[in-house]
Amino acid sequence: MNSETAAYKRLVIVSNRLPFVLEKCGDGWTAIPGSGGLVTALAPVLRNRGGIWIGWPGISESADISELVEKASKDAGFSMTPVMLNKDEVLNYYVGFSNEVIWPLFHDFQSYCNFDPRYWEIYQKINSRFASVIAENASPEDFIWVHDYHHICVATELRKLNVSSRLGFFLHIPFPPLDLFVKLPWRYELLRAMLDYDLIGFQTLRDRRNFTQCLGAFVKNIRTKGTGRLLSVEFEGRTRLVGAFPVSIDYREFSQMARTREVADRGWFIHEDIPDRKIVLGVDRLDYTKGIIYRLKAFARLLEKHPEIHRMITLVQVVVPSRRNIPIYENLKVEIERLVGEINGRFTKSGWVPIHYIFRSLSRTELLAYYRSSEIAIVTPLKDGMNLVAKEYCASSIEQTGALILSEFAGSAHQLQTGAFIVNPYHIDEVADAIYTAFKMNQEELKVRMKKMQKSITRQDIYWWVDSFLNAAISGKLKDFPFLEELSHDTEPKSE
Ligand code: UDP
Repeated sequence: MNSETAAYKRLVIVSNRLPFVLEKCGDGWTAIPGSGGLVTALAPVLRNRGGIWIGWPGISESADISELVEKASKDAGFSMTPVMLNKDEVLNYYVGFSNEVIWPLFHDFQSYCNFDPRYWEIYQKINSRFASVIAENASPEDFIWVHDYHHICVATELRKLNVSSRLGFFLHIPFPPLDLFVKLPWRYELLRAMLDYDLIGFQTLRDRRNFTQCLGAFVKNIRTKGTGRLLSVEFEGRTRLVGAFPVSIDYREFSQMARTREVADRGWFIHEDIPDRKIVLGVDRLDYTKGIIYRLKAFARLLEKHPEIHRMITLVQVVVPSRRNIPIYENLKVEIERLVGEINGRFTKSGWVPIHYIFRSLSRTELLAYYRSSEIAIVTPLKDGMNLVAKEYCASSIEQTGALILSEFAGSAHQLQTGAFIVNPYHIDEVADAIYTAFKMNQEELKVRMKKMQKSITRQDIYWWVDSFLNAAISGKLKDFPFLEELSHDTEPKSE
């Protein structure tokens, strides 16, 4: 450990949800450990070095869940601290401000925003509650790392409580350009709140540039200096850093899991069901940002333009249920299902249904089997902070012959552009042509492309991401957080 990082004792992670999923079990609930990239990268540090994870447990009932959280903490091997929310708070802070204001605006869907003043009021109140829980549980030597758009105002509230710890913030979604951000009624307040962190991280240089342009437009007497990955922003006598850190996946884990017998067997059955055909795979949460409607239209256009490949290609579109309590999401589901029905009705021939539509969440084995057995992945969001599906598909391409069609508006396009077929997702003909080109491409050319993408993801995987963020925030790395034994030595009273 170097001398600068020696001062940091623990990592405190703050995210909207605690790292588990609750499942109904009889009259009660049971907690299933979380499995995302963030949990994979951070859980070992928290486990071995005594950190804490603070978040909402995912239920708004007033039930006493202390036993459940205690058990989840024990199973995970690190401490979890819940922030409780009632139904009305979930509706206003999570569904309302987070997902009906920030989410659509930051993804360029301004017309989907509902700028209800009550949402803003409750958002601040909940950020303040998170801050109180953090303040009760953290010490000045901890590094506090706050995640995502649900918690932009947490640093401001922590500073009001005189918390002096270093604070980092990472925005997992895009940051919008000035001409969109300007529409937000609380534009100054949000920018000002972000300046209360010591390090503000974005997915791409484009997001960071949008942010600094907004600062320049709305915050007086601010100075931005530097070029490259980290900029420094001076304001009211204090310097904070602003950087771009593309989030990633545990490449090795995906690639190893994709090689397992279980996944190979499952993949065999998938191709058995769709014999002698190339599979084009789409995997998306139900969300208007994912471009599913445009993609279906592009697939229909491909079939219209190239009748000679009918029966030789199938689109498997997986849609994972999400945010079902927001009407726009429910309408989107209806529209997707109508369009799938229309396209299948128009093109289906005996023994061939062009689109296989799956509306549910897949198990990890099933997902990897689809990744492995699909010749083409189609990832065409209209806007996406990063898009991990694109990276997971590449990591699972064991034969290295998978083709990736990728939207230029996904954060991952910055890293994968050398190997992916980059498209404008709104351009139906361009997407249809890209599917056709990928379909026709020979294996050698596909291999060259896939190898480039795999190399890029290996170089900047999830561990690289955590380390580069910590490095910028506290000149540290994951391994620099002291082991529990070292901590207990440090805290022993010194003998004279
Ligand atoms: N995923 C999942 N279950 C599924 C399909 C996908 O857990 O049935 C995961 C997938 O492995 C990926 C994540 O959901 O890690 C989607 O992340 P992405 O960045 O692509 O989009 P987001 O849903 O976060 O907007």
